[in-house]
Amino acid sequence: MGLGWQGLSIPLPEDWNLAAFSGDWGSGYVRAEGPGDSALELKWKHEKSSPSLKGLLKSYLKQLHKAAGRKKSEVSLKEKPKALPSVPQGSGVSQTFSWQSGGVYGIGAVWHCLECRRIVLVQVTALSEMTANALARRIIPKIGDHPEGDLCRWSVYDFDFTVPKEFRLEKQSLRSGHLSMEFRHKGRTVVLERYGPANVLLKRDRLSDWATAVKPIFDRLKPYKYKKETVEGEPGHDAVRLSGRRKAVKDLLRRAGLWMIRMQPPDALRARVWNCEPSNRIVMVMVEARPRDVEALTDRIAAGVRCHTGEPERDSAAS
Ligand SMILES: [Zn+2]
Ligand SMILES: [Zn+2]
Repeated sequence: MGLGWQGLSIPLPEDWNLAAFSGDWGSGYVRAEGPGDSALELKWKHEKSSPSLKGLLKSYLKQLHKAAGRKKSEVSLKEKPKALPSVPQGSGVSQTFSWQSGGVYGIGAVWHCLECRRIVLVQVTALSEMTANALARRIIPKIGDHPEGDLCRWSVYDFDFTVPKEFRLEKQSLRSGHLSMEFRHKGRTVVLERYGPANVLLKRDRLSDWATAVKPIFDRLKPYKYKKETVEGEPGHDAVRLSGRRKAVKDLLRRAGLWMIRMQPPDALRARVWNCEPSNRIVMVMVEARPRDVEALTDRIAAGVRCHTGEPERDSAAS
């Protein structure tokens, strides 16, 4: 599935994972790591006019080598290496490069996307030239630097979903037992979470009890008066649906005030929590939006979650 992050899609090999990240939609950095000290680093920022990529590249490499504690004289830099003949389609100006320093081989590219106006600077590093070249050829030309269509795909640690692209990531917590990402746009909130392993979490509880009692969800539900129903999802996906509205007096007053002028505040809640048996994980989608939009938005986001792939996972934690 690769990595989907802040509108970027990076087709990483299977056994690679996100190792570090910073920034936001406007500008940021990700680092992914694979086996054998191989790594990918990518930086992005928005720039309306066509930038001088050469200057950018120079300052980036300077930073990079400073960080690695290497002197400039110890780095041999090549422009337009044969191993990387292309950058992603649709980019305007671009520049490819490779370098070698102290047993590390780097190969990368920098380009300016004419459509989204992102500047992307990416490089892969490996301990052999062959590996670095192969990785660069495989990954770099297929990087997507902006979402296609009106949904943005996010994919991290095999948790793969889409949210409308105008939503921005506000908070995240990426622990293996609990992944949580919270997005916002114009008063609307979308939260996606993944918990696991499900067979351990549900050892004593039924899903419908667990779904409203587990602390992160319990805390999120506090401001709402809600109903809960159990539904049969697709096979292997027992689900709980929650629907509600904010219940504080100030919320009721706000609603009444807006009703007078025929408006709705984004204070309606929907949530779907399902137990994905094939992946042995529990997924939650929670949306707060206006009553007239909330159901459709929740359905759309829940439908875009790829919670499991291919072969079911072994039930290793079962007794
Ligand atoms: Zn773009
Ligand atoms: Zn599933």
